[in-house]
Amino acid sequence: MSAPPQASGATGLGQRARRPLGRWWRRQSPARQDRLATLAPLASVLLFLAAIISAFWYLRNEEIEREAEAVKRDAEIAQQQIRLRLIEDQEQLVRLAREFATRELDPAEFSQQAGGLASDRPEIARLVWLGTDQRPRARFEPAGERDDGAPRAGATPPGTERSPDLRTEAEWAFIAARDLRQPMYSRPFKDRHGTLVFQVHVPMLARGHFVGALVADYGIDVLMRHFVPSEVTRRHAVAVLDEHQAVLASTVTPMPGKAQQRASIVHEVPLAPASNGLLLRATGYRTSVGLIGNALFWLVVALSVLTVWMLLGTWRHMRRRGQIQDALVQETNFRRAMENSMLTGMRAIDREGRVTYVNPAFCAMTGFTEAELIGRLPPYPYWPHDRVDENHRLLQQQLQGRSPAGGIEVKVARRNGSLFDARMYVSPLVDARGHQTGWMTSMTNITEAKRIRDQLSASHERFTTVLEGLEAAVSVLSVQQGELLFANRSYRLWFGADARGHGLLASGSAQGQAAPEPEDVDGFGGLPAQELAGLGTDPREVYAPALDKWFDVRSRYLQWTDGRLAQMLIATDVTARRRAEEQAALQAEKAQVSSRLITMGEMASSVAHELNQPLTAINNYCNGMVSRVKAGSIDNDGLIAALQKTAKQAERAGQIIHRIRAFVKKSEPQRVPAHAKDIVEDAVELASIEMRRRNVQIHHYVAQRLPVLKCDPILVEQVLLNLLKNAAEAIDNAKMPAARRHIELRVVPRHTPEEGGVIEFSVTDMGPGLPEEVIGRLYEAFFSTKAEGLGIGLSLCRSIIESHRGRIKAQNLYNGPNVSGCRFAFTLPVETTARLEETPLAPSPDGTAPDAGSSSAEKTSP
Ligand code: ADP
Repeated sequence: MSAPPQASGATGLGQRARRPLGRWWRRQSPARQDRLATLAPLASVLLFLAAIISAFWYLRNEEIEREAEAVKRDAEIAQQQIRLRLIEDQEQLVRLAREFATRELDPAEFSQQAGGLASDRPEIARLVWLGTDQRPRARFEPAGERDDGAPRAGATPPGTERSPDLRTEAEWAFIAARDLRQPMYSRPFKDRHGTLVFQVHVPMLARGHFVGALVADYGIDVLMRHFVPSEVTRRHAVAVLDEHQAVLASTVTPMPGKAQQRASIVHEVPLAPASNGLLLRATGYRTSVGLIGNALFWLVVALSVLTVWMLLGTWRHMRRRGQIQDALVQETNFRRAMENSMLTGMRAIDREGRVTYVNPAFCAMTGFTEAELIGRLPPYPYWPHDRVDENHRLLQQQLQGRSPAGGIEVKVARRNGSLFDARMYVSPLVDARGHQTGWMTSMTNITEAKRIRDQLSASHERFTTVLEGLEAAVSVLSVQQGELLFANRSYRLWFGADARGHGLLASGSAQGQAAPEPEDVDGFGGLPAQELAGLGTDPREVYAPALDKWFDVRSRYLQWTDGRLAQMLIATDVTARRRAEEQAALQAEKAQVSSRLITMGEMASSVAHELNQPLTAINNYCNGMVSRVKAGSIDNDGLIAALQKTAKQAERAGQIIHRIRAFVKKSEPQRVPAHAKDIVEDAVELASIEMRRRNVQIHHYVAQRLPVLKCDPILVEQVLLNLLKNAAEAIDNAKMPAARRHIELRVVPRHTPEEGGVIEFSVTDMGPGLPEEVIGRLYEAFFSTKAEGLGIGLSLCRSIIESHRGRIKAQNLYNGPNVSGCRFAFTLPVETTARLEETPLAPSPDGTAPDAGSSSAEKTSP
């Protein structure tokens, strides 16, 4: 607001510049941003390094240039000094030479003159006057050496020397000076002292004629020492070189044995005016101003490399951190998704009990939002109001880490006030440093589970109550281990708590059973497969001697709760029923015997009459024989015939008695294989006594090849006799005419869907038939229409037939609308296992062996 306009303008400009940059930066992907953030410092370090190197380079060049400038300047200064001196010397020599040439001086004068010249010129090592023949006319050596005039090797002018080299250099200069008529400088050479010198030959001209030359020897070394300024030599090395670049003299002495290294800054100028190929060279002392030797440079390089290296390390580290962060984010997302999707409620509390976290499932269960729960201290809003104390106690237990591992069951209140049962498991919450920060609790709604459990336990209780209250003993035994898995109260009461009772009941039941057929046994370890697979088994009755009880035992195999094969037995106490049945059987037997006695009693007069006939006959035969023996009117043959007749009558009487005795004899009822024909014959024999008395005809027919019966023959005979007697009585009582005084007894095989193969016995009479009211009460005991009748005959017949698993029925026969008689018929099952030929048959009541090959018999008895 109060900011100066130009300042705000500048800021605005900066912002305007920053804005697109910021936009561009935000547009980059995070990976690219990371890369840029890493590479930018690297690039700047490299740039910095490059800048430093170029700065060094520039400075070095600058310095070298400056140095070169100084070297050049100094070289020129030195050259200038030497040149001035040489020119001055040359001028003096030219003057002297002219003087000598014009005045014809003698050698003594020359020495004087030369001495005057050379006295203040130390560079001139010698002065020689050469004639035209190159011979020295005079010489002067300012050093004051031997000046005896005698030519010596060292003092010999160059031209006079025998050495071809010296001669050549000096001669060349002499000749050049002579020819060109001007001073000439020779090339450098060593004089006789071994000093490197060069000469200047100044021609002597007298009136235009060459008369000789004035030769001055310059010591190169001396020249250097005197005429190169000391400030130049202090700064730079100055040397004189010949045309082959060989150093002839130098202001610095080279180190012996060290190769002359190539100087970097050098400046060479010709040693004018001596145009003899000599060069003056100035060399900078600083031979190496390179980067390579610069410690500062290397320090900068090392620091830059270190920085780059550290940047790269940081970059790698960041990348690793990035990967870890990615993994962490992934893991966190996974856990978040897991927490959000699971149905278990999760709640975290700190060590004071403050809620620090709840997951969505917890909120969904309780109905409270996350905001309502986070930060809450106990009592929590989901605690039921009436259970706050209990919950406080449980929470204290939790905070002290004493919660049971199996979890605790609590009631939890929803926001709407409804309650549900929950199971909570508590585990410590540990942070990254291993310190416990609180407790994590998981909560599961167990209302449904609890309801089911309660139902289960209730149903188990009901089941147990029923089983325990049962009058039957129920036991389950594991087949392999023989261990008693279950026994109810009755079982424990009767057999105790061990498996012996089960064994007794199971083995007792096995006794009554036929051995299982091989096909009934399968891979179940010899267990009868039928019982394993079947819905139940036939009940069996087992006697327990220790208890003196009979049990109806039903067994079945089942898979026990743990998967083991087990046998269950249900044993019902049937002692009372069994006793009653025994009693009834006993009474029935007694009744049958009584009934037979009664029948015989009824038939007594007939039997007596029947017996009377043979007895009378025997009596007659005996009386007849006695009188004929007394009269002597009988021979032996006649006597034997009479005795045989007597015996036959006695036998007949015996047969009658035997049959009656066999019929009424009290015997145990027993089922044996028997032939219908034998039974019929015995019954007819007995009945015929009564038939004769009542004057009724009896016909009987037995079908051929009948199967063998399995029955008690006496009882069946009793039934037949009863039916025949009833028929005869009905005919007799109704006073039927002779035409209807017939009874027919037929025995035929039959096959009915209900009974299968049976033998049917039928007794048909031509009597009055059964009155309507009688038919309904026919088998009622003590029902009789006769004055002297007992009415137990038919009821007994029915019980006998039914005990043989046969059926008896009665029906009237009609001739048009009129009753023409009635028919009683019963069936008996046949023996299934025995064959006629193989079966030993019961002895017939008269003691004679049965006629196995009996054929059909139709007989009529009177
Ligand atoms: P009882 O012979 O002692 O009377 P039963 O039980 O043998 O006793 O016979 C019952 C009744 O059935 C007889 O009283 C008789 O009325 C009737 N009854 C039996 N058999 C015949 C038959 N063949 N014809 C007519 N009625 C018969």
